[in-house]
Amino acid sequence: MNDVLAAELLKLDGQGLRRSLREVASAQSREVILDGRPVLNFCSNDYLGLAADPRMALAAGSVAGQRGFGAGASRLVCGNFDEHTALERDIAALKKTEAALLFSAGYMANVGIISALVGRDDAVFSDRFNHASIVDGIVLSRASMRRYPHNDMAALDALLAAETNARRKLIVTDTVFSMDGDVAPLVELAALAKRHNAWLMVDEAHAFGLFGVSGSGMAEELGVAGVVDVQMGTLSKAAGSFGAYAAGSRVLVDHLLNAARSVVFTTALPPSVAAAGRAALRIIRAEPQRRQKVLRSAGSLREALQALGLDVPPGITPIIPVMLGSADRAVRWSKALLEEGIFVSAIRPPTVPSGSARLRVTVTAAHTGSDLEHCVSAFKKVMSHA
Ligand SMILES: *Cc1c(COP(=O)(O)O)cnc(C)c1O
Repeated sequence: MNDVLAAELLKLDGQGLRRSLREVASAQSREVILDGRPVLNFCSNDYLGLAADPRMALAAGSVAGQRGFGAGASRLVCGNFDEHTALERDIAALKKTEAALLFSAGYMANVGIISALVGRDDAVFSDRFNHASIVDGIVLSRASMRRYPHNDMAALDALLAAETNARRKLIVTDTVFSMDGDVAPLVELAALAKRHNAWLMVDEAHAFGLFGVSGSGMAEELGVAGVVDVQMGTLSKAAGSFGAYAAGSRVLVDHLLNAARSVVFTTALPPSVAAAGRAALRIIRAEPQRRQKVLRSAGSLREALQALGLDVPPGITPIIPVMLGSADRAVRWSKALLEEGIFVSAIRPPTVPSGSARLRVTVTAAHTGSDLEHCVSAFKKVMSHA
């Protein structure tokens, strides 16, 4: 076995595509200790700067003290704690849906939701840039997968019109695309779903906590939350915690609790983790200035990078891709930036299509104005000798 696998790794090495781990030895914040030295962190999804907020650790610690750490069983056996139910109530209240169901991670939510909603006789319409967990959910469901070009509503319309055999039709999209930071046209998607009698599911992983008046996501921001059938999102990004949810009707949630295998056949989240999620939701409600700040900072960093002449597409989210083309170049730039004290990750195939390797710069509410300036001057320096 090992010689076969070693050959595969060697091939990845040759293509500049081999991945490896780096070690952070500090809290997740604007600055982290990486390989023993402090660097400015421009690659986390901790958009609101909550991952290391003491209120989250305090909430988790207090519940861990009372309920212990492990949940001990699946929620349907004896692992369902008061904290889980309370978090679901809080999520449904923020999302203004009848109900919500917790999952242990966003990955598990997508895999579980999609395979619980559709099967062999059905068709799923999926944006080409959707997250890998959506793709895996579709594959697991055995429904036929119809991928449409990124955000191309005419192409989606045609695919839906051509689909005559499917028992059920499900459209799935990220609302904010994780590697491009652009936004799905949700108003048009909702209209197409209605016109073609399809269900609509959105993944708010990168929008929950950031967009909408109450911070509930892009569906709220664009005024379509009420017509989306399934609103999925994570507690692991802007909410700075861990876990994920499906929000929607009571019937949807009851169905998922019975049919989503990633809920039924897995141990419940530790109750302390649910408590941290609840603390995050309280902060999201009480401190809208955090989301205003990160969006403002993202806007100014994006403009400053564009002004340097870098290939940075327009956008409104804290995900700022700096397009570099080859995987090799992306890796070289990320190494050079690290030497300047700026931690930015190189995103390469298969995460993004080949030839579109990039640096994915992310901004959080924890960054200061001078952090952003440091980032820009590091880019300027790296550009001049790369
Ligand atoms: C990160 C991400 C997920 C997975 O969420 P986790 O909680 O990290 O497992 C799902 N969908 C999208 C769009 C994501 O970016």
